[in-house]
Amino acid sequence: MSAKNKSDQVVIAGAGPVGLTAAYALLRHGIPVTLLESYADVPTDPRASTFHPPTMELLESLDVAQEVHGMGIEVPKWQFRDLKKGLVAEFDLAILGDITRYPFRLHCEQHKYAQMLLSKVEKMDGCEIRKSRNVTGVHSDENGIVAMVHGPNGTEEVAGRYLIGCDGGKSVVRHAIGVSFEGLTFEERFLVLTTPFDYTDHGFKGTCYIADPDRWYSMFKVPAEGPPGRWRVVSPVGPDLDEAAAFDDDACQARIQAVLPHPEGGTFPILHKNIYKVHQRIAGRFAVGNVFLAGDAAHINNPLGGMGLNFGIHDALNLTEKMVAVYRGDAKDDIFDLYDRQRRTVAEEYLLAQTAQNKRDLEENDPEARALRQKEWRETASNPESAREFLLRTAMFKSVERAQSIQ
Ligand SMILES: Cc1cc2nc3c(=O)[nH]c(=O)nc-3n(C[C@H](O)[C@H](O)[C@H](O)COP(=O)(O)OP(=O)(O)OC[C@H]3O[C@@H](n4cnc5c(N)ncnc54)[C@H](O)[C@@H]3O)c2cc1C
Repeated sequence: MSAKNKSDQVVIAGAGPVGLTAAYALLRHGIPVTLLESYADVPTDPRASTFHPPTMELLESLDVAQEVHGMGIEVPKWQFRDLKKGLVAEFDLAILGDITRYPFRLHCEQHKYAQMLLSKVEKMDGCEIRKSRNVTGVHSDENGIVAMVHGPNGTEEVAGRYLIGCDGGKSVVRHAIGVSFEGLTFEERFLVLTTPFDYTDHGFKGTCYIADPDRWYSMFKVPAEGPPGRWRVVSPVGPDLDEAAAFDDDACQARIQAVLPHPEGGTFPILHKNIYKVHQRIAGRFAVGNVFLAGDAAHINNPLGGMGLNFGIHDALNLTEKMVAVYRGDAKDDIFDLYDRQRRTVAEEYLLAQTAQNKRDLEENDPEARALRQKEWRETASNPESAREFLLRTAMFKSVERAQSIQ
């Protein structure tokens, strides 16, 4: 490996789950990394929690699949429901057991994944982590990159051979290299209510998508601190409702009772309320010279389908595999054009298309179209061949396969 000094290192802006995946993948090959991160500690607010089967397989290449598996809960079955009529269709990932060692969605909170990787990279030779540092800009030329960083001791510069912007949806790196972020921001925001009430005792599977023209829901179980876990119940909040009104206890109780009235006529404990803006956007380029974008810095989407974080991990592993080849002398810098072609194409074709479709399906307000969609779900689920095709797409196998097919 030719990376011997700091100027030959990879600088990563953002130690979220994607930045940490990239850092760990590079460090395991002896490539030095400096991580620049604005947080002091990994944030634990509720965000992504679904790991799809291909992601688990890719994590085997980092020897962490078993550890992640141990932190999560297996969710082989998931449901489409109608708010008023109940169960519409149930899918079982077990039918993919012949092609994957992970025929389930693994539910594990993203902060646990990030913390696990952080504790590994912290101990590795060649890794420097600078927390409480904001990347404010980046210059790059044919010799490498220089990141401008603001921290407790003022402003400093960090030089390297490459820079990966893993600094989330508002990416400073993306702005600094003048890359567009086309798309839209939804009018409605998504409200997440977390309850310890266990819906699995009432016919719900670990992930449920509930269609309704007035208010759809998405529900999923997370492991939390141990059995029986907790449920996150997500639903849209219109632009006319401010945060205080959305968080009102009675309003939240009415919202959650609409999914399933409390079986004993009581109230659901609500442990956590969280509201956030949702977007569908994609960067115009994922690679500009020696600077790359990965994860939310490159694409953001609604969480229906649980794909964003998975896709970001796939970005990180795709890009770092190419970097390792370049450091080894097995490839030239033009290989990074392939990163852009593979990941940006698939982000458009699968990530943005599928998650947008998922949202449209749940909120469909034309009764005929809704009935037709639900009939399709039922028919797809009841036919093993069509169920298999459907699961290959929604569990992201097709997206990984398509990226690999692009040369
Ligand atoms: C509030 C919220 C809720 C979400 N809920 C869901 C969900 O329910 N389901 C789902 O699938 N997805 C969800 N997502 C999306 C999911 O969390 C992301 O896809 C995932 O976090 C992407 O990881 P990342 O590492 O690319 O970006 P991030 O997790 O955003 O990490 C970026 C990192 O960069 C750091 N950073 C930012 N700017 C700078 C800077 N200038 N300098 C240095 N460091 C910087 C940040 O502190 C952060 O640690 C949610 C996202 C948000 C914001």
